[in-house]
Amino acid sequence: MTQRKTIIETGWNLDNSYARLPKSFFTTLNPTPVCSPKLIILNDRLAISLGLNVEHLKSNDGIAVFAGNEIPQGALPIAQAYAGHQFGHFTMLGDGRAVLLGEQITPLNDRVDIQLKGSGKTPYSRSGDGRASLGPMLREYIISEAMYTLGIPTTRSLAVVTTGEPVIRETEQPGAILTRVAASHMRVGTFQYVSKWGTVEELRALADYTLERHFPNVNNDENPYLFLLQEVIKRQAMLISKWQLVGFIHGVMNTDNMVISGETIDYGPCAFMDTYDPATVFSSIDMYGRYAYGNQPHMAAWNLSRFAETIVPLLHVDQDKAVKMAQDAISDFPKLYHCNWLEGMRAKLGIFNEELQDESLIKSLLDMMHKYGADYTNTFRALTFNKLEDMKLFGTMEFAQWNELWQSRLGRQKETKELSQELMKNSNPALIPRNHRVEEALEAAVKKGDYSVMESFLNVLSNPYAHSPKQDVYAKPPAPSSCRYRTFCGT
Ligand code: AMP
Ligand code: MG
Repeated sequence: MTQRKTIIETGWNLDNSYARLPKSFFTTLNPTPVCSPKLIILNDRLAISLGLNVEHLKSNDGIAVFAGNEIPQGALPIAQAYAGHQFGHFTMLGDGRAVLLGEQITPLNDRVDIQLKGSGKTPYSRSGDGRASLGPMLREYIISEAMYTLGIPTTRSLAVVTTGEPVIRETEQPGAILTRVAASHMRVGTFQYVSKWGTVEELRALADYTLERHFPNVNNDENPYLFLLQEVIKRQAMLISKWQLVGFIHGVMNTDNMVISGETIDYGPCAFMDTYDPATVFSSIDMYGRYAYGNQPHMAAWNLSRFAETIVPLLHVDQDKAVKMAQDAISDFPKLYHCNWLEGMRAKLGIFNEELQDESLIKSLLDMMHKYGADYTNTFRALTFNKLEDMKLFGTMEFAQWNELWQSRLGRQKETKELSQELMKNSNPALIPRNHRVEEALEAAVKKGDYSVMESFLNVLSNPYAHSPKQDVYAKPPAPSSCRYRTFCGT
């Protein structure tokens, strides 16, 4: 492999600060080259914001980087080591099918990880083939970009290439590589790995690096590690509340899939909920509903407790005091989460100020939605535009009574009805990437090589709060089906 083009021509401006951390944190290795890469989709806007040259990225040399066949100038590819609790069981993991090329320094001087996912075997692959297939990589592209446009912190997708090599899953599938862009890839599981197998000095090195990269505003007179714990808790409380407010189900909230930066990561079995039901689960392996919609805030708190445990040795020389500090920080999570959720729900109902009964108003709406099998997104959309037709819920006496209470609640704030509607329009998306639409786009792409369905879909998803007529058809929930929508891990 050669390093041919200069930074000016390509826009790649990579640093490798993670690779300057202790050697046990990663393994240096190149991606495994593939036989005939082809660019399927490129995120032009994201590329430009990263300072990359779009024309170069579309050229053979540019595509060779996305395929792992060329290493861009300045890159030092590594696979990161991490551990994690998977469905409650602790295990050693690591990048089994990914390499971090380096950190792109953007024109705004941000530092973001550039990672190839599906780039071949690594020492952490266990029995896996190190590869990924086209459908799931496009699925990650669609859903991560939808999350971004919905205003939810997330890793982004820069490009998907096919490799020209098949991968064997249940059937033979086209192999593909996704280029993922992330604030960083440090996971709760990264801290678990260092805490379990590293020294306290190594743990401190990881924590110091994380502080410098993500939380540089720590005051000199503060305990930096307590600050780190509190900030990570705050970011997760924000993130999970945003998931709940749009009906997003991650599906595999293992501790290795929770990043310290507070972005959503690892779009495996995730999906959006149509009909409101807190017990909704899509993942085929989540037999007991551990990661069900209604359980996500609890699982986030559980994961954060595992994070807190890892940094106890850094919190205080007196370990009893350190444990107490960690427990106090964790006990803040439910309050922080609830506060964010309540604020978001008020906005979804056009409410600006706070009244004590707001929570019971919200809860009774959700209970009715559950009872009458109402579509989550479309209920709020209908309330926003006062189009109370079509749904069984809106024909009930219970709803009529609730509506009266809601209207009088709106009347008790100084903001006009018009302002309330504006708030609702900005808080209730016209559409989400509904599962049947995602499947339709993937089927056309993977089975027929027709990417136009996905492109049109991405286009309407690019502004979910536009409420434009062209979005109407995509807002329709799926026809009732006897089969539960199922999603899969390890694809
Ligand atoms: P995930 O369920 O995607 O969060 O992945 C859990 C672990 O399995 C991580 O260590 C991944 O790198 C690894 N993994 C997933 N798929 C593969 C694969 N096809 N080959 C090697 N490792 C994999
Ligand atoms: Mg993962």
